[in-house]
Amino acid sequence: MADGQESLVVRALRLLRTLGAYGQGNQNRTRIILLGTKGGPTLGKTRSNASTLILINDIPYVVDCGYGVSRQLMAAGISLDRLRYIFITHHHSDHNLEYGALLYNASATGKPIQVDAYGPTGLQKLTQDFFEYEKFDIETRLADEGGADPRTQIAVHEFDQPGVVMQTQSVKVTSCRVQHPPITQSYAYRFDAKDRSIVISGDTAYYPELAGFAKGADVLVHEAMYLPAIEKLINEIPSATRLRQHLLAAHTSTEDVGKIATQAGVKTLVLSHLVPGDDPSITDEQWSEGARKYFKGRIIVGKDLMEI
Ligand SMILES: [Zn+2]
Ligand SMILES: [Zn+2]
Repeated sequence: MADGQESLVVRALRLLRTLGAYGQGNQNRTRIILLGTKGGPTLGKTRSNASTLILINDIPYVVDCGYGVSRQLMAAGISLDRLRYIFITHHHSDHNLEYGALLYNASATGKPIQVDAYGPTGLQKLTQDFFEYEKFDIETRLADEGGADPRTQIAVHEFDQPGVVMQTQSVKVTSCRVQHPPITQSYAYRFDAKDRSIVISGDTAYYPELAGFAKGADVLVHEAMYLPAIEKLINEIPSATRLRQHLLAAHTSTEDVGKIATQAGVKTLVLSHLVPGDDPSITDEQWSEGARKYFKGRIIVGKDLMEI
């Protein structure tokens, strides 16, 4: 190839990249999009409730369904008829409140959908109870408007032990039981795709076994609690002693998150499920400084709709 032609190719590639066409031609890359980065059941003004999207070969894998997940998926450019796989880490409401509604919203698109949902004991009942909750609507519409019955568009896969959750040609998903008292069925997930391995901690206290589970992963998305703000919050609400006890027993400080990332030897650490998750006075530097004391790799402070 002549020099002139080569530089033309280089220029064309640069132009395609600028136009965003390169990204579209690169859809096979495994992508992570943080849909909701706030921890806890309250609604915040700055962050949506917990949910993380992984795209493998452009197929969406939704991990946790905090309130707002349907809208956040759409905001991330994923039309709801593309819903295919859901994973729930545990049954606190900030992780499952919109689970049923997401299924319903996907079904309501009228497109043929088939969803496989994975999660710990209780997921089957949660699914049935949601359809019971919306029974009147579902049956009225089926008789009046026709279309598909959302109750037939979901397959639930419940488990009560860690191990292989599902496996396809594209990805192997495994789970690790983590420490999130008083809930005993709380899991982290690991996605091993061909080009990338990703671990999502779910909710957990400092748990060194998680580092073994996350060994060598490219990306660890870990929950994080900023202790100085927790202390401030608790001091303002004297009755919150029990909340304080729960937070300290069931979640991980930013320092301890750094220890896990180093023990695991991951390349990138992403802080998400932030507690407190709606305090814009906490800077990114403050979020990351605790972890940086122990982890020398790349640290990303999660924000809604950020792609990693
Ligand atoms: Zn949570
Ligand atoms: Zn929780």
